[in-house]
Amino acid sequence: MALPLVWLADVLRAAGLNVVETPGWKERTASGEQPAAAVGVLEHHTATPASYDNPAPSVQLCIDGRPDLKGPLCHAVIGFDGVVHLIAAGRANHAGEAKPSGPNPGGDGNTLYVGFEWDYQGVDQGPSPEQHGAALTATAAVLRHLGRPPDAARGHKETSVTGKIDPGHVDMDRFRADLVTKEQEDEMTPEQDAILRRLEHELLGPRGPQGEIQGWKTAVGPRTIVAMLVDLVNNMAATQQQNAGGGGLQGAEAIKAAFEAMPADQAAPLLAELVRVQQQRQPAPGA
Ligand SMILES: [Zn+2]
Repeated sequence: MALPLVWLADVLRAAGLNVVETPGWKERTASGEQPAAAVGVLEHHTATPASYDNPAPSVQLCIDGRPDLKGPLCHAVIGFDGVVHLIAAGRANHAGEAKPSGPNPGGDGNTLYVGFEWDYQGVDQGPSPEQHGAALTATAAVLRHLGRPPDAARGHKETSVTGKIDPGHVDMDRFRADLVTKEQEDEMTPEQDAILRRLEHELLGPRGPQGEIQGWKTAVGPRTIVAMLVDLVNNMAATQQQNAGGGGLQGAEAIKAAFEAMPADQAAPLLAELVRVQQQRQPAPGA
């Protein structure tokens, strides 16, 4: 019978991660009860210094285990470069006894949790941005597959009954808040996505052949609406400074004054572009 976590490769790849399947990972397991009904993801650090040149030095150790603890030691190693190395699809000796934490019960941590080892030293060295980002993506994907909320992501330091400190340099409350944000982004409807793309199109202009920002064609050259609005706001600030002491201007009056204070060759194309964009709103591609 297949081990319970053989879906990890497909789920992590579908989330856009760079996944390496170590030979034999789908058949690799420790002895004991299987994590068939895992309720969360447990985050660890390996305590081994890593670098971009040597991003995943602990892969073999996590497969083989240590003299005092048999392998596999986790389900996946997340490298300093953000590459995810799959280690085991069955039980792994990563968690030990677990206290209740967040929405998760206590008990045998190796049946309750999918375990990710982030390969970094943890005391003098924190995770790299690529590693942190990959862990966030991987954790979100696994929790979604398990049907569990972002709160079900825990750090070993939160479940350990023996005073573990991993993952070091990671604020788990912040990590879970980022998971919530990620979930909301992923849940954007096609309509919301189309609105965002249309706003971007209007603000930045058509994209070039390589996707580069080109801006709208104006009498003073290619300009984005954003750049033109910056000019407008700068003029507005200058106008307000000139008027300081006289009570100042507010709202539409200030905007009108700023337009009047702008050189005509700047104000005219900005006005023309604002009017044109307003009149020629085009549906976004695919909308
Ligand atoms: Zn740990």
